[in-house]
Amino acid sequence: MTFDSRQVSPFRPSSQKIVSTTNGNTTLVIGEGSLTLTDTLSLDSILVVPFLYYNLLSVSQITAALSCIVIFWPEFCVFKDIQTKQTIGCGIKGGKLYYLDLQSKDSNKLRQTLMTDGSEGEKKKSEIWLWHRRLGHASFGYLKNLFPSLFARSDVSGFCCDICELAKSHHTSFSLILNKSLLPFMVIHSDVWGPSKVPTLSRSCWLVTFIDDCTRMTWLCLMKTKDEVNLLFQKFHKMIGTQYNAKVRVLHSDNGGEY
Ligand SMILES: [Zn+2]
Repeated sequence: MTFDSRQVSPFRPSSQKIVSTTNGNTTLVIGEGSLTLTDTLSLDSILVVPFLYYNLLSVSQITAALSCIVIFWPEFCVFKDIQTKQTIGCGIKGGKLYYLDLQSKDSNKLRQTLMTDGSEGEKKKSEIWLWHRRLGHASFGYLKNLFPSLFARSDVSGFCCDICELAKSHHTSFSLILNKSLLPFMVIHSDVWGPSKVPTLSRSCWLVTFIDDCTRMTWLCLMKTKDEVNLLFQKFHKMIGTQYNAKVRVLHSDNGGEY
């Protein structure tokens, strides 16, 4: 938000929006515009609020608009690109506020300190990201073979590319299949779970489930040991026969050893 409409271009007048201030009052927004602060920091939808005494930068707005992260230190803060982790801007603390001070000596000093401590590694990391994109998202293991010197201080596992994960995955998620069985007890799903860290009052640590595919009716039996599955299934099978006059036709399991 800025108080000076001359700072933004192009200035688009509007009288639709209002801004709530901390004392509970509201004040009118007279228009919007864009503003280029540096080569890396350009902001759209800047509100022009003549009532303000200072220009204000919203962190939640800038992180979303520029896809960046903001890290606050006691004396300064930095803006970093999420993907490349490159520093795209910084602020200096003055009093209790952080000032986005783009051209002052302080800012240069800050940049220098960032350069010397740990920024050599950052520089190499951003170069690795650059090569990753240049070579059509080549794997980081492959890049390590190509540029061993770039990986001197960083491990391959430290890199994770969202685009690669989506583009290179071999499976799409399983589609939702609703009830397939027409009659109860055509298909029974069974699975064993355990051991639980906390036993029940009857000292059971395991459980086995029998789920009817048609009705989703679920039988859950507690077990002290895993090998009780065999006996419990026999009991379940008999119970279905006597109580429902039906036969289990298919038993689905995950092929675990207990079956
Ligand atoms: Zn990638």
